[in-house]
Amino acid sequence: MNGIGFKKLKAIFNKYGGKCAYCGIDLNNENFTIDHITSFLKKDLLKHKNFGYNSIENLNPCCGSCNSRKRSRSIKEFKQFITNKCLKLLDELMFLDKTYKLKGEFDKVTFYFEIYEG
Ligand SMILES: [Zn+2]
Repeated sequence: MNGIGFKKLKAIFNKYGGKCAYCGIDLNNENFTIDHITSFLKKDLLKHKNFGYNSIENLNPCCGSCNSRKRSRSIKEFKQFITNKCLKLLDELMFLDKTYKLKGEFDKVTFYFEIYEG
């Protein structure tokens, strides 16, 4: 957050009422980060906008957790990333449920050897 004055920092923090622009969690000194909506790698995309890379229009208050997931993704790419991740997890969940015969009772994992009566 070097090079950003206190006034601007405060404006970014308050952009969405002190909440993360993406998940809506309350922001504080511990989890407050700043997301560049259009990342440095894609900053040429801002050429046709009337604001720059470090303008508040391109900066969102963001919790560390969301920022580490969004990285340099655009808003659209970030949404797709979350969707893909959920679909992958759902796949994995369905696989585990079927493989270990959990029938939705995910806290009752029993391995085969534990019930084997050979
Ligand atoms: Zn967040």
